[in-house]
Amino acid sequence: MQLKIHPSTLSINLHCSGCGSDYLIVAPNLDTKKVLTESCSNCHSAWTGKRAISTQGAVAAFKDKYSQFGSDLF
Ligand SMILES: [Zn+2]
Repeated sequence: MQLKIHPSTLSINLHCSGCGSDYLIVAPNLDTKKVLTESCSNCHSAWTGKRAISTQGAVAAFKDKYSQFGSDLF
């Protein structure tokens, strides 16, 4: 590893405003020592399994959406 070509790093506190968790991360030397994020792996719906997934197919959703126009469309 060459000397004096890599940026200096700091331990920075990452705070999640979604769940209130705090993480200690290593990042390049920034002006701030605290970074805010809206979601993290503790509270994001993709990781918690609470994501609302439609079990309805695309064709059925299309038929439901446009069923008021009659059956000529499909
Ligand atoms: Zn979070």
